[in-house]
Amino acid sequence: MDLEFDRQHLWHPYTSMTNPLPVLGVTSASGCRLRLDDGRELIDGTSSWWSAIHGYSHQALVAAVQKQAAQLSHVMFGGLTHEAAIDLGKALLKLTPAGLSRVFFADSGSVAVEVAIKMAIQYWQGRGKAGKHKLLTVLGGYHGDTFAAMSVCDPNAGMHGMFGHLVAKQLFASAPRAGFDRPFCDDDIRELKTLLEREHDSIAAVIIEPILQGAGGLRFYSPDYLRALRALCDQYQVLLIADEIATGFGRTGKAFACEHAGITPDLLCLGKALTGGMLSLAATLCSDEVAAGIGDSPAGVFMHGPTFMANPLACAAASASLELFAKGDWQAQVSRIEAELKRGLDDASALPQVVDVRVLGAVGVIEMAGSIDTAFAMHAFAARGVWVRPFGRLIYVMPPYCISSAELAALTRAMVEVAALDGIL
Ligand code: PLP
Repeated sequence: MDLEFDRQHLWHPYTSMTNPLPVLGVTSASGCRLRLDDGRELIDGTSSWWSAIHGYSHQALVAAVQKQAAQLSHVMFGGLTHEAAIDLGKALLKLTPAGLSRVFFADSGSVAVEVAIKMAIQYWQGRGKAGKHKLLTVLGGYHGDTFAAMSVCDPNAGMHGMFGHLVAKQLFASAPRAGFDRPFCDDDIRELKTLLEREHDSIAAVIIEPILQGAGGLRFYSPDYLRALRALCDQYQVLLIADEIATGFGRTGKAFACEHAGITPDLLCLGKALTGGMLSLAATLCSDEVAAGIGDSPAGVFMHGPTFMANPLACAAASASLELFAKGDWQAQVSRIEAELKRGLDDASALPQVVDVRVLGAVGVIEMAGSIDTAFAMHAFAARGVWVRPFGRLIYVMPPYCISSAELAALTRAMVEVAALDGIL
């Protein structure tokens, strides 16, 4: 593989072209194994950023895409429709929390968030309250890299600071107090309540990652917080957007993280695992009421329409993935992974440079006392036969649900060993 060409000419996520991080060449992948061009095999701890929940090259997904490609690989969605989109729409509405009835197919998670934000703003225009156009969110959040999505990411995280003067100014409350099982009290949500009380006339929606703040710090929080937030949104007539792009499809132990709190958002963003990691597809779901408000807005139509909207290949992959999900034993797999992650990562708690170890569903996190040397850590992981990509102070994994107990034990062993290395920080 011409890694030198890659190094000189191809951008990778969040990297420099003038001082690139080393990359590994992958020639094929199956199950939860990545095969490298130098002959090595790595156990994947990332599901390719939360997406490959069934593992790589799952036969059912490959067959669905092949069949669809032979029939209709793409057609514009403006004025035309197709079976692959209709089947997926039906499957999604069956699986997602009751009350969501309209589906917009986008092509990436960030775009699904843009769509949700635009829908919320247009909804209030339709309800005669065009002044309600701001977003309220919490610190520690991450919602994507496009402009509206950046405006609701944590401004202190340093990811998008260089564009800070250009993104819309939104409202931020403190991050939810960390701890899934931590007892909740009204004080935990007081700041959000105060902002809603004071500013609700200008707020279109609250956007939040339910239960798990992902790229903003891998922190879990209480379902009671989410329940209280839903009640506040109802009280102050503000829409609730749940960004389940990372948490959707079983990752936290429920099909959707909102289910931990038994709530339905007004808008729901999905992506990543929607196609089981096969192809890029995302979706924004909304209620009848949101759709009706948009219909009543001066424009009368929702103003968004990507060229590859509802791409049939991606829809077919997603339907096959949802079918596996619906009839598979993901719940048993995720509970087993949760128990094994807890056991496997336990030893890390005693390490002096570790400040926290936490697990929920199929997500395991070791939080270090300082910033991790990413290149050093990735090299150390690859040398141990596993693929883990730490960021900031976090060593974390969210493996494919098909990972075996032996593979997961190798993964957690490597995490504890690497966390203990001199030079990791
Ligand atoms: N929202 C959340 C919660 C995410 O974790 C991500 C990606 O990590 C996004 C949105 C953006 O999705 P994408 O990278 O597909 O644009």
